[in-house]
Amino acid sequence: MDGANAPAGSAPLIDPFARAITYLRVSVTDRCDFRCVYCMAEDMTFLPKADVLSLEELDRLCSAFVRMGVRKLRLTGGEPLVRRNVMSLFRNLGRHLKTGALDELTVTTNGSQLAKYADELAAAGVKRINVSLDTLDAAKFTELTRWGKLDVVLDGLQAAKRAGLQVKINAVALKGKNDDEVDRMIAWAGEEGFDLVFIEVMPMGEIGDAARLDQYLPLSILRANIAKNWTLAETGYRTGGPARYFTVAETGRRLGFITPLTHNFCESCNRVRLTCTGTLYMCLGQNDAADLRAALRASDDDAVLDAAIREAISRKPKGHDFVIDRRNSGPAVPRHMSVTGG
Ligand code: SAM
Ligand code: SF4
Repeated sequence: MDGANAPAGSAPLIDPFARAITYLRVSVTDRCDFRCVYCMAEDMTFLPKADVLSLEELDRLCSAFVRMGVRKLRLTGGEPLVRRNVMSLFRNLGRHLKTGALDELTVTTNGSQLAKYADELAAAGVKRINVSLDTLDAAKFTELTRWGKLDVVLDGLQAAKRAGLQVKINAVALKGKNDDEVDRMIAWAGEEGFDLVFIEVMPMGEIGDAARLDQYLPLSILRANIAKNWTLAETGYRTGGPARYFTVAETGRRLGFITPLTHNFCESCNRVRLTCTGTLYMCLGQNDAADLRAALRASDDDAVLDAAIREAISRKPKGHDFVIDRRNSGPAVPRHMSVTGG
């Protein structure tokens, strides 16, 4: 249906800079079974369960966005697959794929529960998943995730392959930690048939004594090193996200770079982020937010919720302003990535 003729409740969401909002990322829990050094402090205080939206409320909120033109939903966290009964949310949201209202339902996961859930994800209509994996060295993996085990994640990845899920590996580039493994990771991803994306570390949340400046590795440097050993061909491939993709001629797989700090990608931003308490962040790098939980709980009638969503989108800012340098090594925004889900 053309937007101008659509009923009020289903008119597309267009922000003040004429960007259509078609992508919603939803953090379904702030909890996690890992404590990655760049993401969380070891000793985290999580939200009281009463503050967190029920799975039914999350479904209602996501469905409202789908009605207003969101075509892609990504469930994330914290670790989405550790939330109890989360598969029922995937199954329920899968109904929008069947009607054609939604193009894609997907998940970003640390992979720890994939061996258990890969088949159920595929059955719910999930076709592609992002799995975060920063190193292929078992000792380093446990050092970086504090609580994770590499072999569990590798088993999960095999289960995902067997279930027919397309896998994209997300690796955060960490100076002095995994920069020496880049060639090995590209070769491994090629052998396994996975796409690979390197992400620059972002200044989000207090993470204890691990200093940001020590972790920050500009991807321009990483890419220059990669180009010494691999042939990277530019592609126009886009997933609606900020990654820039190349094809690695030697493996035939895609290699992406997400460079929020050295490359501005805000002009084409089509996304907003919802936390597990129903707070909508219109920009990952800004603090302005809207409380959709209050609207959700105010009435069973979706009119109140719809109005709150539209009001929030009318405040979506033009862009963000992350900086990590010697004067600014603290968090640009105080919340952790695990709150807004990355
Ligand atoms: N637990 C899931 C996972 O690890 O994939 C989903 C949530 S996690 C917050 C989403 C992504 O954010 C992961 O790929 C993780 O590596 C990335 N991430 C977390 N903190 C980050 C930071 N400060 N800078 C850049 N990426 C970060
Ligand atoms: Fe958990 Fe993902 Fe954050 Fe690691 S990056 S601590 S797996 S939420």
